Amino acid sequence: MQVAADLSCGKNCDWEDLWNLKAIPKIKIFVRNACCNAIASTENLAKRHMVENSNCPMCEEGKQTIEHILLFCPPAQATWRASMFNYTPSPNDFQSLSDWWLKIKQLLQNSGANTAMSWIAWTCWGIWKARNEWMLEGRDEDPVNIWNNALKGYHNFMENMLPPKASAITLI
Ligand SMILES: [Zn+2]
Repeated sequence: MQVAADLSCGKNCDWEDLWNLKAIPKIKIFVRNACCNAIASTENLAKRHMVENSNCPMCEEGKQTIEHILLFCPPAQATWRASMFNYTPSPNDFQSLSDWWLKIKQLLQNSGANTAMSWIAWTCWGIWKARNEWMLEGRDEDPVNIWNNALKGYHNFMENMLPPKASAITLI
């Protein structure tokens, strides 16, 4: 698909593959932008002199990069641990978010990668939304809720994808 190829940023980002995720378009675009580091993280805002300090205001433990927000900041870590992946992202051997995405996908290859990657996309989106709510409104979201809402979002999406029920179709 030509459009897909044009939207890749060149950082290992397989846009066509992302487009096949079972998620609403804004989540696919968010994951694509996150993998291309085109997200308004505090670090990126500081690079453009829109904020002075690039540190993470949530934990004050280093720069607020996109991978810090989605994987390493304590609220993100708590969300991944609360998820069915029961996973603790580690900064050891970490190169970039796009590299992480590919590695996880390869790891899940034999167990329905697309479904699991879709859950991961919904989770990343939930963590990002919770981060924004904290930044804008000072509201703390429970990591268990972030995960539950991610799963709920996925299931709602899948239900809407189903063809209409037979009873809803009137044949002449
Ligand atoms: Zn943090």
